[in-house]
Amino acid sequence: MKKIKVVQWGLGAMGSGMAKLMLEKEGLEIVGAIDTRPDYIGKDLGEVLKLGRNLGVKVQNTPAGLLQKGKVDICMQAINSFTKDCFGDMKIVVESGVNLITIAEEMAMPEAQQPELARQLDELAQKNGVSVLGTGINPGFILDAQVVMLSAACLNVTRIEAARINDLSPFGPTVMKTQGVGATPEEFERGIKSGEIVGHIGFPESIRMIAQALGLKIDRIEETRKPIISNVYRETPHVKVQPGMVAGCEHVGVGYCNGKEVIKLVHPQQIHPHLEGVKTGDYINIFGDPEVHMSNQPEIPGGKGTMAVAVNSIPNVVRATPGLKSMVDLPIPGCLMGNSAYDRR
Ligand code: NAD
Repeated sequence: MKKIKVVQWGLGAMGSGMAKLMLEKEGLEIVGAIDTRPDYIGKDLGEVLKLGRNLGVKVQNTPAGLLQKGKVDICMQAINSFTKDCFGDMKIVVESGVNLITIAEEMAMPEAQQPELARQLDELAQKNGVSVLGTGINPGFILDAQVVMLSAACLNVTRIEAARINDLSPFGPTVMKTQGVGATPEEFERGIKSGEIVGHIGFPESIRMIAQALGLKIDRIEETRKPIISNVYRETPHVKVQPGMVAGCEHVGVGYCNGKEVIKLVHPQQIHPHLEGVKTGDYINIFGDPEVHMSNQPEIPGGKGTMAVAVNSIPNVVRATPGLKSMVDLPIPGCLMGNSAYDRR
């Protein structure tokens, strides 16, 4: 079997996990790695990933000389969240004639908030004969692609409500800040106003993906972010939360049609939810005929889920027709466990 040659761009929490996962997959071969971290540059990827062996792949701080059409099939980017921030780096990949998967949240459906950049990327991808996919656990899977998939068993759908209730404890300081964990209620309100606290990134993208796939008309999306105030002391290696302080953010996104709620996505994220008896899980409720009620407890872990969805989507993206794609444009991905997974039609 001819292996799919991959460059990993970004070796942080997600990118390094994706690289380790790719090393376990018989149909994938890592041929390059990029990260700007000074302590990674020039080191063997095996050393950066703490594998105890070298892989013969040196980490570069730029893609110079690496992304050659024919020598690289796909680049995996795990560097940031917003389309405008990663557009330049995505353009470099696409103009090199290399397919791209990014886990930037807004790229799950960039048309939702950056229609002009999405159009440009689609045009560039078509011109260079490659495809581009934004994916991850959420957006990219739980609260959108999976909802769409379940709706295929319905004769009709009147309303969708889905929730992902998860534990933020394993995440680092950036996530704590953007979710407002450790803030006072007043600091939380100020952070929301200034844009320093954002909650979840991806509701407009997920709502648009579902609406587009089902042909539901959405004329307005509203998002609300409320602090989850802790009644008990909670602590992680990065933050301490006293009773009365913020343990997380309850973020809700609603898509309306003619004033009626059609798609509601609920995503309360907090550290140590179990300390107040909150059970984590993923829930999808589709109202229509028949009703579908899917429940998974505890939630699919965000880190492993993101690495897996991105890596397992590689053959689909390599085989896809050129252009900008979303998860609902491509065949259903599955866990890559053997040769036949790479040769599907
Ligand atoms: P991280 O901060 O741990 O890692 C980012 C890495 O990228 C760092 O090593 C950094 O040095 C490197 N980097 C940044 N800009 C670069 C550039 N221009 N060139 C080369 N290297 C660069 O972050 P993470 O936890 O790995 O997540 C990466 C991104 O993916 C975040 O923005 C996160 O919000 C997003 N994400 C999305 C999903 C999803 O479900 N779609 C899930 C998890 C994370």
